[in-house]
Amino acid sequence: MLVLPYEIERPARYIGKEPLRVRKDPERARVRFALCYPDLYDVGMSYYGFFLLYEILNNMEFVFCERVFAPWHDMETHMRKRGIELFTLETRTPLRMMHMVGFSLTYELNLTNVINMLRLGSIPMKREERTWGPFVIGGGPLCMNPKPFEQFFDLFVLGEAEEVLPKMLQLFKELIGERRDRVIAELAKVEGVYVPGCAKGAKRVYVRDLNLVAHSVRPPIPIAQSIHNRLNLEVSRGCANGCRFCLAGFVYRPYRERSIESLKVILDQALRNTGYEEISLLSLSVGDFTGLEQLLSYLGCNYRGLSVSLPSVRVGSLKEGGIAFLGQISRTGLTFAIESGSERLRRRLNKRVDLDGLIRSLPVLKRYGWRKIKLYLMLGFPWEEEEDIKETGRIVSSFRKAGIDLSLSVSTFVPKPHTPLQWLRMEEKDRFLEKLALLKECTRGSKIKSAPFEKALIE
Ligand code: SF4
Repeated sequence: MLVLPYEIERPARYIGKEPLRVRKDPERARVRFALCYPDLYDVGMSYYGFFLLYEILNNMEFVFCERVFAPWHDMETHMRKRGIELFTLETRTPLRMMHMVGFSLTYELNLTNVINMLRLGSIPMKREERTWGPFVIGGGPLCMNPKPFEQFFDLFVLGEAEEVLPKMLQLFKELIGERRDRVIAELAKVEGVYVPGCAKGAKRVYVRDLNLVAHSVRPPIPIAQSIHNRLNLEVSRGCANGCRFCLAGFVYRPYRERSIESLKVILDQALRNTGYEEISLLSLSVGDFTGLEQLLSYLGCNYRGLSVSLPSVRVGSLKEGGIAFLGQISRTGLTFAIESGSERLRRRLNKRVDLDGLIRSLPVLKRYGWRKIKLYLMLGFPWEEEEDIKETGRIVSSFRKAGIDLSLSVSTFVPKPHTPLQWLRMEEKDRFLEKLALLKECTRGSKIKSAPFEKALIE
């Protein structure tokens, strides 16, 4: 039995009693897989990709896939003091007793949590130290450049895991009990599997037709506060816009959509299973989804009262019909990623947005009830000049004149691997802070949020 002292904050993070969690007999599972998210329960339980794999793997009759999250400091201290090893939520099995431990790698700053979780799970930290115990696998967008952290993993899945993991586990079940190096050598033959140090290299694998692969319809419902507690509906994957700084735009190529018919089936099943009253339409650029108006109209007609949120929308991609439907069924604000107010700079980034068109459409947005808008901006491009930042200030004042409650979220440009800007240097901290100060000066009166420069530097 898990006994937690009263000082542990949000103990529900660790008890694993969520409705819709998978229950299987661990004795009968031939492969036991720990699906790890290297961040808190609150973050991992909001991530669609995590639930998708959880469902796909558990739909395989011989696999039992269980969830593991990073503990908060108070719980970690308690575990270390009492000698409690990191365990799975479903059966409280220590990590070291699983066959495979797979980490979803989505954010650079979480990589140190991977190492911490391995230590808490009594698994040797480095690949070469592991002569026993589970195979440690990495997957997710960070694996496009695994070199900096490959010493901690036995294998990587390159590309979209739903295409690779099931094949890997089919093969693995026949190899249980074999020598470790032989298992790794055999798994390396699966397309999309990369073994560090292996001369063969590996090819990124992706799903060709989204309509032919599963969508999560029974995600476990969080019982402790999570960042989002709503249904995620993945309407498309990839992005056809090709902004030159955007890792996601290159990692998830090509652009693919789910059909309206399959989305309706998924939606009906998932809402029936979960009872959610809010959904988020997942896409890198949801306004570009060709079936958006049709889908919103279906939601408006069949799910009155359901709240719909859209992640960042590309400027110009929402037509008046979509705005009108959304005004009826959404209670969340609109977010546009414009990156910069300067047309000159946006051209260099290949960020094609019609800002004048957006400003002209502000009265339409207001008419349909949109009064809050968030703009994503990016600072720190090497060719950025003062005039570009002042131009952003002028754009922001146009929004304010139109009576829009505007907030700004500023991120630092980080040259990412596999993007055309990967070899650019990063801005010096002092210069970045000067630019940020100028932006604040030019946009005085708007709420502005920016992440610490050091975080971007680590990324
Ligand atoms: S529109 Fe958004 S998701 Fe698409 S490439 Fe540009 S920044 Fe990336």
